[in-house]
Amino acid sequence: MTLTLADILSAARVVRGQADGTPLVPSPGMEERTGGEVLLKLESMQPMGAFKLRGALNAAAALTPEAPGVTCCSTGNHGRAVAWAARARGVRAVICMSNLVPQAKVDGIRALGGEVKIVGRSQDDAAAESRRLADEEGLTEIPPFDDPLVISGQGTIGLEMLAARPDIRTLLVPLSGGGLAAGVALAAKAVNPGVRVIGVSMDRGAAMVASLEAGRPVEVEEVASLADSLGGGIGLENRLTLAMCRDLLDDVVQVTEDEIYTAMQVLYWEDRIVAEGACAAGHAALLSGRVRDAAAPVATIVTGRNPDMDIFTRVVTGQDVTLGDMIVKGRAYAR
Ligand SMILES: *Cc1c(COP(=O)(O)O)cnc(C)c1O
Repeated sequence: MTLTLADILSAARVVRGQADGTPLVPSPGMEERTGGEVLLKLESMQPMGAFKLRGALNAAAALTPEAPGVTCCSTGNHGRAVAWAARARGVRAVICMSNLVPQAKVDGIRALGGEVKIVGRSQDDAAAESRRLADEEGLTEIPPFDDPLVISGQGTIGLEMLAARPDIRTLLVPLSGGGLAAGVALAAKAVNPGVRVIGVSMDRGAAMVASLEAGRPVEVEEVASLADSLGGGIGLENRLTLAMCRDLLDDVVQVTEDEIYTAMQVLYWEDRIVAEGACAAGHAALLSGRVRDAAAPVATIVTGRNPDMDIFTRVVTGQDVTLGDMIVKGRAYAR
């Protein structure tokens, strides 16, 4: 199956009035540091706090009228988005989680109207339960990235960015499972084939980067990161996003935890944005100097505003952060 601009245009009709039209704003601080215009697409202003609402709404819109509801096993922004989209559509959302998930995340999903089902002791157990609910109770599974409707929904971001600023030359996209990068690259290049689209991941535990290098889906060891939304695998049965990222991304850049730390400070103190570490990936890549041919205008996507507030506060106030076996050394923000 191949996705086209038509799929993204149809997703744009679905999300209109519900999850579209987030602002594209200049970043004077980054302009000063890089010498060229830098634009930020604020998906952090989505009602449930992240761009994933677009894909979830597009997937939920395809349900048949008799469909009883939806299910997934994400504890992060995808789970929140699925809960929100199901409520908007008036159907059940059952979000499956293992008993290791912190209560705050359970409460967050419930507050958005989602039913939480706690099963087993691992993410795999939660995934198995979600699949069982799909098989036995007829709920529709909404995958977090490897799905044509989800990719098309995320792609509407690229359409909006290029419609607002057709002169964007470099587009930096935080990269995990690749639904965002695949959709945005497809849309942006359909409008302007000359735009360079570059995925940005952290330098440890980046499954898409490892898979692109291997030429097939591979598993990597999951490690804690300031960019926690960029963790996780791409699925060994990956159908769409690996091939799309291979064909549509011009480059992939990896950033260190130290670089993400500094970028989160810049995003907060200069852009005045509360956002997750994943959202600072574009800033980190630019500031690292590792983006080849970063022709301006450069644009990046601030993907979500649901950080762990304890870690976030430590970063912006310059304290050490412990991530598993690693300590990111604190340092005061310096302009
Ligand atoms: C999911 C997510 C991403 C990565 O999106 P993929 O489609 O998995 O590549 C980036 N940032 C945030 C905040 C997310 O929730």
